[in-house]
Amino acid sequence: MRIGTGYDIHKLIPSTESDFKLAGISIPFSKRCVAHSDGDVAIHALIDALLGAAALGDIGTHFPDTDPTYKNADSAELLAYCLPLLESNGNEIENVDITIITEQPKLAPYISAMRDRLAEILKIDRGRISVKAKTNEGLDAVGRGEAIAAQAVVLVV
Ligand code: MG
Repeated sequence: MRIGTGYDIHKLIPSTESDFKLAGISIPFSKRCVAHSDGDVAIHALIDALLGAAALGDIGTHFPDTDPTYKNADSAELLAYCLPLLESNGNEIENVDITIITEQPKLAPYISAMRDRLAEILKIDRGRISVKAKTNEGLDAVGRGEAIAAQAVVLVV
């Protein structure tokens, strides 16, 4: 068994377009992430956790933000790209646990859809995928709504 952890944070800025994504789900929100890709912090943390568990580097080495290929990239596609890397190393995902930290939007209505979407991308049962949301109690940049962060832990066998 091997464990991997991942963390990501992105700055939030006001947006009039509906371009906010978390765990592969589009969520109505008055802000968007400043990012080279679509800024999906949950998936970025998950990718780092998976790559970390397999000792396969990190998201930046596989998808450099200096590469125009990944401009506005769909993070779901980046995550899907990592699966064969894991499998070629002989790893299978046992479980995934993600914590998203943000004051807004409230994520409870979207947690189930996030789990379904990640299960679809990772080709595993949703029972192996946990997504949790919490606030930063008004503290620091996340607490002021200036940023959104995510942590992920995975176990691969
Ligand atoms: Mg990121």
